[in-house]
Amino acid sequence: MGSETIGFTKAEEVLARIKATGLTPDPMSFETWFVYLSGHNQSLNRDVNTLIEAGALTDDAISDIYNRHLSHNRHLQHLFAVGENLRDEAELVAGLINTAYGSANGYGTELETASKKLDHLGDPEAVGAIVDALIRSTEEIQNTNALLQRQLENSEAQVRELQDKIEVLRIESMTDPLTAVANRKLFDLALKQMIGRAESTNTPLSLVLVDIDRFKDFNDHFGHQIGDDVLRLVAFAIKNAVRGGDVIARYGGDEFAVLLPCTALKDALTVGENIRRAVIEKELIRRSTQEKLGRMTLSIGIAQHETGHSSDVVIEQADRRLYAAKQSGRNCVIGGAIGVPPVGHQHMI
Ligand code: GH3
Ligand code: MG
Repeated sequence: MGSETIGFTKAEEVLARIKATGLTPDPMSFETWFVYLSGHNQSLNRDVNTLIEAGALTDDAISDIYNRHLSHNRHLQHLFAVGENLRDEAELVAGLINTAYGSANGYGTELETASKKLDHLGDPEAVGAIVDALIRSTEEIQNTNALLQRQLENSEAQVRELQDKIEVLRIESMTDPLTAVANRKLFDLALKQMIGRAESTNTPLSLVLVDIDRFKDFNDHFGHQIGDDVLRLVAFAIKNAVRGGDVIARYGGDEFAVLLPCTALKDALTVGENIRRAVIEKELIRRSTQEKLGRMTLSIGIAQHETGHSSDVVIEQADRRLYAAKQSGRNCVIGGAIGVPPVGHQHMI
């Protein structure tokens, strides 16, 4: 089934569609079907169509599609909610400070009046009355202060909770939801930061670009959901092959980028080779039927950053080597000058 494109989508149509599928009509599935029926998100439609074809339309599958394709909207919604909560807290604290300021002013005026009266006093009873009044207003302000303190403590806890939520959102907004590695945005930030550090400490920095071979064919043959499992598997293999301080990112659809600080080209080639081998060593088997799906191969291009060059240069160089790896038959790692003969490791299987 091709993607369904219609010019005009009504809420009723969306609800009718959800009803027809027998799925739960929650806001998440509503949004997913709304986008599906609008036909504006081709990749979402492709995934939904695959589910329909496979008869695998479940609430979980729709939730998965929502997270994959529409999660940026979810981040925005969370961010708006957190922003509103923060604004409410800020207003509350401003109100509390105003109250405290008002009480302190009132107390100051009271003291001033009492002091003026005391200047002209000889009568001990009048002195007693003034002292009583002062004790009363002191108690009042103590009570107000205790209440303010409790409210401020409460506000502080709320603000801290909101800060934690912002941190979670910040991390989520920089993570690829499918593979849980960094997304392109975080990669760009990390690359610039690592170039700065490499230059200031005079240490090498290498970039490894990894692309799955003939992944489109694999998806077409076995379906996108199994394709997604392969993407997770490759991310996992890369994680196992690198060190803690290295940054792994999903650079594009089936392309990953790995930043290796304090690593020169020669050692980066070994890392690249370890990644390539870790993936090809795994035979893919469909869990439900035990059907053998073959092995994935990777093409890998590697470059080392050169002092004074911008981040674009190292990306371009690694990308050219990745392209050369594809050109020379795929399933290999290239990290040296491109030409004949290619320098770097080549492992054909
Ligand atoms: P090559 O060896 O030249 O890299 O061939 P290829 O088929 O891997 O390259 P191409 O760029 O034509 O296709 C990349 C494919 O990656 C297309 C798409 O089916 C797949 N892909 C991209 N993102 C996702 C995803 O999130 N999930 C799944 N399952 N597949 C994806
Ligand atoms: Mg590919």
